[in-house]
Amino acid sequence: MDAVVVGSGLAGLAAARRIADAGLSVTVLEAAERIGGRMAARQRDGFRLDHGAHLLNNAVPELNDLLDVPRLTLRPLTVDVVAHRQGYRNRAGDAWNRARLGAALARLAATPAERLMERPERTTAQALAGKGLLGLPLAGLPLAGLPLAGLPLAGTPSEGFLRALLVALLGDPALGTSSRVADLALRDYARGRLCLPAQGVAALPRQLAESLPPGTVQVGVRVTSVSADGVETERHGRIGCRAVVIATDARAAGDLLPGLHQPGYHPVTTYYHAAPEPPGPESPCPEPQLLLDPERDSLVAHSLVLSAVDRSYAPAGASLVATTVLGRRSFDAGGPASLEPAVRRRLSALHGADSSGWEFLAVRHLPDALPTMPPPHQFRRPVRVLHGLYVCGDHRETSSAEGALASGRRAAAAVLHDLGLPIDPGAELAA
Ligand SMILES: Cc1cc2nc3c(=O)[nH]c(=O)nc-3n(C[C@H](O)[C@H](O)[C@H](O)COP(=O)(O)OP(=O)(O)OC[C@H]3O[C@@H](n4cnc5c(N)ncnc54)[C@H](O)[C@@H]3O)c2cc1C
Repeated sequence: MDAVVVGSGLAGLAAARRIADAGLSVTVLEAAERIGGRMAARQRDGFRLDHGAHLLNNAVPELNDLLDVPRLTLRPLTVDVVAHRQGYRNRAGDAWNRARLGAALARLAATPAERLMERPERTTAQALAGKGLLGLPLAGLPLAGLPLAGLPLAGTPSEGFLRALLVALLGDPALGTSSRVADLALRDYARGRLCLPAQGVAALPRQLAESLPPGTVQVGVRVTSVSADGVETERHGRIGCRAVVIATDARAAGDLLPGLHQPGYHPVTTYYHAAPEPPGPESPCPEPQLLLDPERDSLVAHSLVLSAVDRSYAPAGASLVATTVLGRRSFDAGGPASLEPAVRRRLSALHGADSSGWEFLAVRHLPDALPTMPPPHQFRRPVRVLHGLYVCGDHRETSSAEGALASGRRAAAAVLHDLGLPIDPGAELAA
């Protein structure tokens, strides 16, 4: 065996695919009984429940690089912000917001990423409160001070659409994330569309796994220790090889490689409800709508009718609603489910429908969902530990599908380089 990859999340599968494409033998060992790591999904009573509601961006080059994107059927989402004022529910959709932010977003879309990386780095909250993101002072934004579709949204854009959008994009309700990460996320938003694969986020790791030689991925195999020439497993003995790539989450990587940088984490809690079809008043918008909650202290960050993304998310006659709660919350003895009644109440306001009869299907609480990225954020942590031993995963890059894929690309490039194979010049060997 040339290489062993530990972990079958996006990073591990991306690394394995590039190693296999170079003609080397590779095996992927996955401790869980299913592939995909944080992008796995489960079926329940005809509903497809992702590990947590994800938002992908179709402008991200890393997605298009390795995956057969047309086969993923990425469905664009309309980003809608729901404001309530004096008893009225008001929505101003993506097109409206994009139009108001037009010049700033167009400028951002055209700005090279390297230029954004030269901008002063602070927290996103500080950037919003001060000179602003988008390369413009917020006061200069066309949205500032304007009423939102006739009804004033509390305060400036920093308290409305932009804030709610950034909270959703970064998974960080306090916006303590590096402003450079936020700049890049907004740039992607300006260049592309938020979207979801028709068959759910698990379609990404599934497609990568299916593109590997049969039998490459072995599930239910936990690696307990690593060295440059092989791995020890819990119940399957030792597997020798010429290169080991640790592609686990940061905490598991730290157990295998003591001393490895350990990030903090943003928890993500996703509530799944079954609602009638359609769940509320029919919207004139033909696209599924990501409903952002702009209230600063709202429990809910955003909510989305997943069965509007694709019917395969729910059985006939039912809708599947995924609602995301971000940040550290104190749960009582009932755990995350204890917040469900409060989430459900907010859903009525967001969806403009009586949610009291909706069926609570499940809650997924991941305390370690997203590695935090406070300033100064190191965008490319080294992937080579020593000759023969490598580490990748979103914690080496940015906390996203894109970061996981990019880190897998860099780790594979380091492996190929050290084993004397030619590497793709675009593979950026920053080991
Ligand atoms: C709720 C939620 C919402 C998210 N939302 C978004 C979003 O909107 N947009 C976005 O881009 N990203 C989002 N993300 C982040 C994205 O899912 C991750 O960045 C990405 O999936 C990380 O992939 P990875 O390969 O680095 O790690 P993981 O997916 O964590 O994969 C690591 C794998 O290693 C395995 N493993 C661990 N220890 C061992 C061991 N000892 N032996 C063998 N195997 C082991 C694990 O079982 C796991 O399968 C979200 C994540 C969550 C949880």
